[in-house]
Amino acid sequence: MPKFMPEPYRIKMVEPIRLTTREEREQALREAEYNMFRIRSDDVYVDTLTDSGTNAMSDAQWSAMLMGDEAYAGGRSYFRLLEAARDIFGYGYIQPVHQGRAAEKVLLPVFLHKGKFAIANLFFDTTRAHVELAGARCLEACCPEAANSQLRAPFKGNMDVGKLEQLILEKGPENIGMVVMTVTNNSAGGQPVSMQNMRETAEVCRRHRIHLNIDAARYAENAMFIKLREEGFSGVPVKDITRDFFALADSFTMSAKKDTIVNMGGLIGVKDADAPYILKVKANCISYEGFYTYGGLNGRDLEALAVGLYEGLDENWLRYRLGTMEYMGARLDEMGIPYQAPAGGHGIFLDAARFYPHIPYTEFPGQVLAVELYKECGLRACDIGSYMMGNDPDTGRQVKSLNEFTRLAIPRRVYTQSHYDMVLEGIGEVWRGRGDVRRGYRITWEPPILRHFQASLAPIEG
Ligand SMILES: *Cc1c(COP(=O)(O)O)cnc(C)c1O
Repeated sequence: MPKFMPEPYRIKMVEPIRLTTREEREQALREAEYNMFRIRSDDVYVDTLTDSGTNAMSDAQWSAMLMGDEAYAGGRSYFRLLEAARDIFGYGYIQPVHQGRAAEKVLLPVFLHKGKFAIANLFFDTTRAHVELAGARCLEACCPEAANSQLRAPFKGNMDVGKLEQLILEKGPENIGMVVMTVTNNSAGGQPVSMQNMRETAEVCRRHRIHLNIDAARYAENAMFIKLREEGFSGVPVKDITRDFFALADSFTMSAKKDTIVNMGGLIGVKDADAPYILKVKANCISYEGFYTYGGLNGRDLEALAVGLYEGLDENWLRYRLGTMEYMGARLDEMGIPYQAPAGGHGIFLDAARFYPHIPYTEFPGQVLAVELYKECGLRACDIGSYMMGNDPDTGRQVKSLNEFTRLAIPRRVYTQSHYDMVLEGIGEVWRGRGDVRRGYRITWEPPILRHFQASLAPIEG
């Protein structure tokens, strides 16, 4: 039996949850038109829909909130946040915003417009949406290891640097508005990017004079993976690894709802405090988010964020965090259940295409598995596959995803080992019954952008 690393926290406030019956869950699914985002959280037992903003804050964060300065401009809490973010990332300009997509909305149009391209090691869904909303188009250059869930490699989130350079030459460097390095690589399964790969990517960008942005939601998990897996880093504090990693980029956009362990918040960072485009960033922020010393957040939120930036980097915490995923991965290995291996930093990405090889990507195997897991044990997970990818903005055709995953994204400091064990038993049951599921889902209604959040689905009969 794989060992579970004990939780490095104790619980001083609880929130009741209730396990529903199978009939209640089937009813809830029908009412939600099989969209996991439309199920009420009261009808969910263990919620792994996302690790975004679903974290439990610490007593230190809650007490810092009482110190929030709610001034409209120049608040003390802003300067506290600035100090923490500058200390950790070493960047000259820091801009709070209300969440990750707000950072994208404010920064991306400064570099992207019609005729331009952005290239990433894989785009997260909202990042892809904001590239397209700016009028630009997305190109991807993920390392080939990511496409094979059974191939165990230490840094499956890496950029394919050769492909990156090839895409740059093909489209012309002047047409590439930005390169985006997503850490960890969410769509590839929470897989890390190595320092070496970041260096090589930065070298290519520097040579072609292309802006390099880090999509930094999981900066701490990525740094811990570097410490644990990359040669030469085992003795280096993750805080130093983080600083060195960020020094290689020009800017970052960050959802602070992940590794920064708050419920709401985001950041933009610009390395060069004198970069002229900071004026545009400030102008966009004032128009869309609020004055640039609060960026759509309360003063108390800035305080919680400042504390969370450090808590996210605590190495005991990170050892437990990555240890939890490793434990779940090891239990799945024992049962012979396929997932993106080795386990990523923020969750388990089950390989739905291997659960249901007879279900084509146009019927969304990742969505099928999410529904089966919910029926089985009240676990809420979601598709990270073709259902999420949506349609090509130019041709309207369904895009085929690199992988068909069902993602269990684990909220931070919320659940305990017995929850994970229950979930693992549920996955085992669904795996054993996989042959009984013959067909997938069709979409009966979808909005034009980010459809997976809202679409209606129906099971295909037959
Ligand atoms: C969550 C996330 C975002 C978007 O952030 P929100 O806070 O949800 O708006 C962007 N990029 C990555 C990699 C993310 O994980």
